[in-house]
Amino acid sequence: LFARPCEFFHGAQNISQLPVSDAPEVAFAGRSNVGKSSLINALTGQKSLARASSEPGRTKQLNFFDLGGRLVLVDMPGYGYAKAAKSVKEDWQGMMFDYLRGRPNLRRVVLLLDARVETKASDREVMDLFDKAAINFQVVLTKCDDVKPKAEEARYREVAAEMSRHPAAHPVVLPTSSQTGRGIPELRAELAAFAEE
Ligand code: GDP
Repeated sequence: LFARPCEFFHGAQNISQLPVSDAPEVAFAGRSNVGKSSLINALTGQKSLARASSEPGRTKQLNFFDLGGRLVLVDMPGYGYAKAAKSVKEDWQGMMFDYLRGRPNLRRVVLLLDARVETKASDREVMDLFDKAAINFQVVLTKCDDVKPKAEEARYREVAAEMSRHPAAHPVVLPTSSQTGRGIPELRAELAAFAEE
């Protein structure tokens, strides 16, 4: 599946701009700078596919990528940007909630957490949002190349324990590195299960 070409086909700044599509979708969420663009690029093997969408200051929108006509990847705007005003955060949450609730073809959200830092309040808020929207989400730990094995193990345990408290969470936490490619084949295999026959 991921050998197929992947291309941007739509950006939505609000719910009324969502593309009309019933192709299966997998969305990617995470704090700004968590490594989301890098992960999407590593998954698709396309170096600059998701770059523009994550630059702070750029218009926040949902970016839709078509993967070989069989799966749609959705890049959600990064959250937790320290300087963002409260109203911006509320707008983000409102839009995300509407998208999550109103998208029957959304199969899963991949939630990225940095392996090097603890879970932040904004991450917890987003997980609560997924629970509320009853959207199945799976945590991927990013930048595992940049953390010592012991620290990674501790972070892994912390996150896995947290997942057991979230009804919408997939129990398997996946360590990855876009830099070394660790975990990328596993994530591809996981997501390929959602693709159209
Ligand atoms: P985004 O804002 O979530 O889209 O994050 P980016 O993909 O733009 O990455 C943010 C920063 O983290 C950049 O400086 C990347 O080079 C770095 N980064 C991304 N993935 C990795 C990784 O797997 N390992 C390491 N060490 N750094 C990474």
